[in-house]
Amino acid sequence: MSNNGAGLNLAASLDRLGTESAFEVLERARQLAVIGKDIINLGIGQPDFKTPDHITEAAVKALRDGHHRYTPANGIPQLREAVAEDLHRRHGVDVNPDHVVIVPGGKPTMFFAMLMFGEPGAEIMYPNPGFPIYESMIRFSGAKAVPFALEETNGFAFSAEAVLSQVNELTRLIIVNSPANPTGGITPKEEIDKFCEGLEGFPHVAVLSDEIYSNMLYGGRQHTSFLQYPALRDRLIMLDGWSKSYAMTGWRIGYAVWPESCVEYVTRLCINDHSCVNAAVQQAAIAALKGPQDAVHKMVSEFDGRRRIIVDGLNKIPGVRCVDAAGAFYAFPNIEETGLTSRDFQNHMLEKAGVATVSGTSFGSWGEGYVRFSYANSTENINRALERVAAAL
Ligand code: PLP
Repeated sequence: MSNNGAGLNLAASLDRLGTESAFEVLERARQLAVIGKDIINLGIGQPDFKTPDHITEAAVKALRDGHHRYTPANGIPQLREAVAEDLHRRHGVDVNPDHVVIVPGGKPTMFFAMLMFGEPGAEIMYPNPGFPIYESMIRFSGAKAVPFALEETNGFAFSAEAVLSQVNELTRLIIVNSPANPTGGITPKEEIDKFCEGLEGFPHVAVLSDEIYSNMLYGGRQHTSFLQYPALRDRLIMLDGWSKSYAMTGWRIGYAVWPESCVEYVTRLCINDHSCVNAAVQQAAIAALKGPQDAVHKMVSEFDGRRRIIVDGLNKIPGVRCVDAAGAFYAFPNIEETGLTSRDFQNHMLEKAGVATVSGTSFGSWGEGYVRFSYANSTENINRALERVAAAL
């Protein structure tokens, strides 16, 4: 039992619930802007582009056409079919639309997976530094959160051997994320091959592959989807969505491909939690997948240009070094030689230089020595931010 100080007796699990500090940085940046400070926001992880017009129009039309009722809890069949077609086009895989479950964003899939696999006595593995909600939700479920390290020397790819060496009979789920938040790292196909081969020795272990940045790889790199490993299908949850690819973070829609044996349970969780995803937003999501993809390509090529500017610029600042961020829209420089801790660096840059970044420790304790810079901001602002950071150091 947890006492909240106001005499209410709350569930003890709440004491284990973490948060996503990027939202706190966003709020502090907003407060500083309100009092007249010029803040450049490289803190939050969302595209600075507008949702393409044809997607917005599809939602407006859907509302006018009367799409205002409940839909099936797992998503309308036309959308689940459009997802399967998109996965075929992008990854060359066949997916049964009945295994696709539409949810309000990328996060609900994590939440549901942790509720399904996590409980006291179980172990769930996750990347550190990694998206903070993984560790938070594992701990909330009561399971033991077992981190595996992502190393700068390895371009922040995960090492199949390092992950597999920690698997035991209590391990139920391994979370992987490539391209990754907060590092921008990509795990190469050969390493994923090794990992999937090694998993054959542990048939009781499921995988949650968070592929929300699957459209954002640079320098000619190709995405490797875990869906491309047929032997894993009956224990793979593959998470993706519209938030990042189509600049739709505020629309709240995402999906996962689930193992057949889990679909009924996750659908029940949807019914218990949110009934179904907003009907008009599901129509917009169809328009996103079936309509022209030029806006996605334009956005990704713009990110690529900014990525080079920020990585080069950071490497020119004394005390800062940054590996070539290969995916997503984050640079994750090492700032140890500045003599500041990650948290001090974050606070100093926000309060003194007016540049919002996120401390590496917000992504797990092994993020100490690093800071996340999101380059989802204009080239002009990125250049101004680099000048300010250099001056403030
Ligand atoms: N997965 C990763 C790795 C992310 O970085 C994010 C958002 O930042 C999400 C999932 C969540 O996406 P959504 O906003 O669709 O819930």
